[in-house]
Amino acid sequence: MRKQVLLVTLVAIVAAVGLVYAAEGYKDTPMLPGGKWHVHDSDRPQPVAVNPGTFSTQDAPGKPPSDAVVLFDGKDLLKWKGDGGKEPAWVIADGAARVAGGGITTKQEFGDFQLHIEWSAPNPPKGAGQGRGNSGVIIFGRYEVQVHDSYKNPTYADGSAAAIYGQFPPLVNPSLPAGQWQTYDIVFVVPRFKDGKVDTPAYLTVFFNGILVHNRVALFGPTGHRSAPPYREHPLKGSISLQDHGEPVRFRNIWIREIKDYDQQ
Ligand code: MG
Repeated sequence: MRKQVLLVTLVAIVAAVGLVYAAEGYKDTPMLPGGKWHVHDSDRPQPVAVNPGTFSTQDAPGKPPSDAVVLFDGKDLLKWKGDGGKEPAWVIADGAARVAGGGITTKQEFGDFQLHIEWSAPNPPKGAGQGRGNSGVIIFGRYEVQVHDSYKNPTYADGSAAAIYGQFPPLVNPSLPAGQWQTYDIVFVVPRFKDGKVDTPAYLTVFFNGILVHNRVALFGPTGHRSAPPYREHPLKGSISLQDHGEPVRFRNIWIREIKDYDQQ
């Protein structure tokens, strides 16, 4: 008899735990703005599980997250085209792609995104100012995050490494010496247009070697050399280019994740 009671109690506990686990949350809590979800809503979808990959070291690139589009893994530039749609002329060696014979542009286009990219300035350094280790990550052919050997190599602040070229210098300068691998983690929000005019601007957040250097800054418009061009309407998706500024900068471990809205499975 005692055994039976124990068994029934045990079954009841397991069932109760199961019930709570299956529908943990509430439907009697305040509604969040937007009118879709309660606070701690039991019906709210679970976030998609992602393997985050690994961080890079100077010796080896890390592994991209499981849901990233890998743009360059050290082997080939099949995801890229060269200037004028030709094959990229960049040289691939030792798991890196080296600038040569024009810029390269992704074949695929992306909307709002998180981009990871690693680069290394030529070592020993050659040239000075803008002419040392210059390249760039050019978003949608319009918005450049500068690549530049800014280690003990001053130039105009809004043209140094990780600057939003001609608009915003990085908040600090965490540059490493030439020859070392450096990382950018870039979050880009595409500008939205209404009736041909900018409705919400482009936003950039940038981590440079893990250090925040732009905090969701609103761009004034496309970036330019000695110019401040105004916004011109463009699609919600675009490509990413890497600049040939005539210096053999190397790149590795390039991946991108398009940013989805909350609750999208
Ligand atoms: Mg540049």
